[in-house]
Amino acid sequence: MKNILEETKFIMKKYNIKANKSLGQNFLIDEEVVRTIVESSEINKEDFVIEIGPGLGTLTKYLLEKAKKVTCIELDKKMIRILEDRFKLYDNFEVLNQDVLKVDLKTLIEKTKENKEIKNVKVVANLPYYITTPIIMKLLEEQLDLESITVMIQKEVAERLIAIPGEKNTGAITYSVYYYSNAEGILEVPNNSFIPEPEVTSEVIKLNIRKEPPVEAKNRELMFKIIKNAFMQRRKTLVNALTNTKVFASKEEGINILKDLNLDENIRAENLRIEDFANIANKIV
Ligand code: SAM
Repeated sequence: MKNILEETKFIMKKYNIKANKSLGQNFLIDEEVVRTIVESSEINKEDFVIEIGPGLGTLTKYLLEKAKKVTCIELDKKMIRILEDRFKLYDNFEVLNQDVLKVDLKTLIEKTKENKEIKNVKVVANLPYYITTPIIMKLLEEQLDLESITVMIQKEVAERLIAIPGEKNTGAITYSVYYYSNAEGILEVPNNSFIPEPEVTSEVIKLNIRKEPPVEAKNRELMFKIIKNAFMQRRKTLVNALTNTKVFASKEEGINILKDLNLDENIRAENLRIEDFANIANKIV
C-alpha cells in the first residue's frame, strides 16, 4: 500500500479540496486501518460492493481491485470529479452523485444482480458521522439483499450497536441491529488516522446479515414500537413506560402479561432480551 497520507494530501492540493465539516468529511490516512477494513469485508470477485461516501477514493481503490463491481454513492459533487478521474480505467466502477438516504437501494441491487456473476452484495464505508444511525437503520430496515455491512463509525455508537440485548450498554437500536444481524467489533481507530481529525474515537464494525431472524415476532413493527417506547422511558419500570405510552391499555394488563411470561413486574427495558419483547408483542397482537 502506497503512503496514503501523501496521496491524500496530493489529491486535496491538486483539486483544491478543503474538508467539508458539515458533510462529515474526515479522510482516512492510516494504511493499517484501510487494510483492516478491506480484509474484514472479505470481498471477492463474486461481490457487488456499495461504498457509501467514498470521498477522495481511498478505500475505493482497494475495493475495485477485489470486487466484481463497486457502486459508490457520494453527495459532494466535488468528489465526483476526483473519483471519475481516478478510476476511469476501471470498468467495474460506478458513482452516483446522490444522498444515500434517498437512493432506492433495493432497485439498485436488483438491477446489478441481473449480472449472474454477482452472487453477494456487501456494504463498505467510512460513514459520515452526522448520519450514522439513519444510514444503518435504512440498510437494515429495508431488508435489502445484503450479506454484510462493514463500516467505520463513532466508537460510542459502535458499542451500542454491537452490544447484546439484555446486557450492558444497550439502547433501542441494539435490538434492531441484533434482530437483523450478527454484529462484531473489528478495530478501534484513533482520531489521528484521519485528516482532519474527528473529535471522537472511531471503530470499525461488521454486521453479518442474518438469513433468519433470531426471534419470531408475529408483528415486527409492533415489537419495535414496544422496544422504542420502553427505552424512551428507560429509567421507569417497563410496565410504567409501556402504560404511559399506551402500549398496555392499563397497568394491570401490563402486569398480567409480564406474569404470564414469568417476568418480574418491576423489570426495566434494559434487562429484557429480544425474545421477551417478541413475546410481549405476541401477547398484544
Ligand atoms: N471514504 C472516504 C475516506 O475514508 O477517506 C471519506 C469518508 S468521510 C468520513 C464521509 C463521506 O461521506 C464524505 O466524502 C462525504 O462527502 C460523504 N457524504 C456525506 N453525506 C452523505 C450523504 N448523505 N450521502 C452520500 N455521501 C455522503
